[in-house]
Amino acid sequence: GFSTAAVAEELITPPVQISLTQHLINGQFVDAASGKTFPTYDPRTAEIIAHVAEGDAEDINRAVAAARKAFDEGPWPKMTAYERSRILLRFADLVEKHSEELAALETWNNGKPYEQAAKSELPLLIRLFHYYAGWADKIHGLTVPADGDYHVQTLHEPIGVAGQIIPWNFPLLMFAWKVGPALACGNTIVLKTAEQTPLTALYVAKLFQEAGLPPGVLNVVSGYGPTAGAALASHMDVDKLAFTGSTDTGKIVLELAARSNLKPVTLELGGKSPFIVCEDADVDKAVELAHFALFFNQGQCCCAGSRTYVHERVYDEFLEKAKARAVRRVVGDPFKSGVEQGPQIDLEQFEKVLRYIRAGIQSNATLECGGDRFGSKGYFIQPTVFSNVQDDMLIAKDEIFGPVQSIFKFKDIDEVIRRANATRYGLAAGVFTKSLDTANTLTRALRAGTVWINCFDVFDAAIPFGGYKMSGIGREKGIYSLHNYLQVKAVVTPLKKAAW
Ligand code: NAD
Repeated sequence: GFSTAAVAEELITPPVQISLTQHLINGQFVDAASGKTFPTYDPRTAEIIAHVAEGDAEDINRAVAAARKAFDEGPWPKMTAYERSRILLRFADLVEKHSEELAALETWNNGKPYEQAAKSELPLLIRLFHYYAGWADKIHGLTVPADGDYHVQTLHEPIGVAGQIIPWNFPLLMFAWKVGPALACGNTIVLKTAEQTPLTALYVAKLFQEAGLPPGVLNVVSGYGPTAGAALASHMDVDKLAFTGSTDTGKIVLELAARSNLKPVTLELGGKSPFIVCEDADVDKAVELAHFALFFNQGQCCCAGSRTYVHERVYDEFLEKAKARAVRRVVGDPFKSGVEQGPQIDLEQFEKVLRYIRAGIQSNATLECGGDRFGSKGYFIQPTVFSNVQDDMLIAKDEIFGPVQSIFKFKDIDEVIRRANATRYGLAAGVFTKSLDTANTLTRALRAGTVWINCFDVFDAAIPFGGYKMSGIGREKGIYSLHNYLQVKAVVTPLKKAAW
């Protein structure tokens, strides 16, 4: 059984008020054009905590018009890069000042542990804006040695109006990954938040206004995907689209972008990342890291280490300890200190995860622990471990996006490389070994956008992140994300006056 009691009757009252529920368009908080609202929830209880403006095509039109005007008429793209950098830094300082309220709001709307929001996500967001503030005045083109008597240079210009669609699993961090590089390069933005988690983006958008961001530079619209999201992806006046979410929806937005104005698209999609425990691994350390790689954020990570491959020599010991670790995992009110796991985001995800658990049982994987909901209210799920998982089972192939660890046995490196790569995804991979040879071999053989050796989920602002195969197109963070938000203009001038 689990060491924690079922979620206590008495939940902690979130230490924050919800004051912003309207769209931010052109520097003003405004109702939806239709006047409609939609409910947003506390996943601990499934109770409504606020009604939020429900954006639709008309709200997207208004937000894009504001972003267009702010881009075409300035002052944003025409400001000095240094002034833009100063605004990003002032924003980061304001976020730091309001960190506790923001972490509380994130936990209330998303269900993630408050300690994680406060100690990991907020610092990562602040660091990312410092990082891109540093880039703002260091973006420049090249002088190109072309044949003939020409002076050739490239100008790196902002691309224009960026449309950005983000998911609910890391609402603040996804805001940062999208908005930081786009603003540093001088673009203007229309951001659509996930319908499950609209609140924190509105809060930080207000802080951006306080930091001196001119009206229309950052517009935030709340609403559903097939309405507001689709309107943004297919808008003729949006110059670039960045999307994070499921692979299925990624295909839809790519198609909408192509059918409208061929705006370039970056996609950060799903995954089924292998975590490979080699025969020389320190088993206790490997168990802890594999546990973190899968269970972090209620298992709701695109890069979750959701296929734990363990060498046969250490398999039995690993399994016993991995199960014991999952049983010890502290599930409960995410506002309580020491709680490691809160509820899943919503009813749809909760039911989907439970369906996958039933599929695992039916396919004769061995249920080692968990397997059901936790408590009787909200969307909590017991930390669940399956052993004896085979590569052709549904739970081995699909992204579950929940606290369900699947453990596989392997015999040798070539076999595990083949099996680890036998997926339509390629977002990340984890390797646990003491051998430099093994690490080098796996690093080069694994088809994934990130390989974490003896670590996992290291999300520094400077490290690029993105997927091979159906895990996406392009990279975010680091220097790579700047390319997503810049146009390159070649300027060619004859060197000799005789030409003109
Ligand atoms: P989703 O991909 O449908 O939603 C992500 C974002 O896309 C949201 O803002 C949503 O409103 C928007 N969207 C949805 N349909 C759209 C459309 N037709 N046009 C434009 N925008 C649209 O994801 P979901 O339904 O919330 O979750 C489903 C699954 O996606 C999860 O179970 C998980 O497997 C995966 N997921 C992955 C990530 C990630 O970080 N890669 C994040 C969230 C969910």
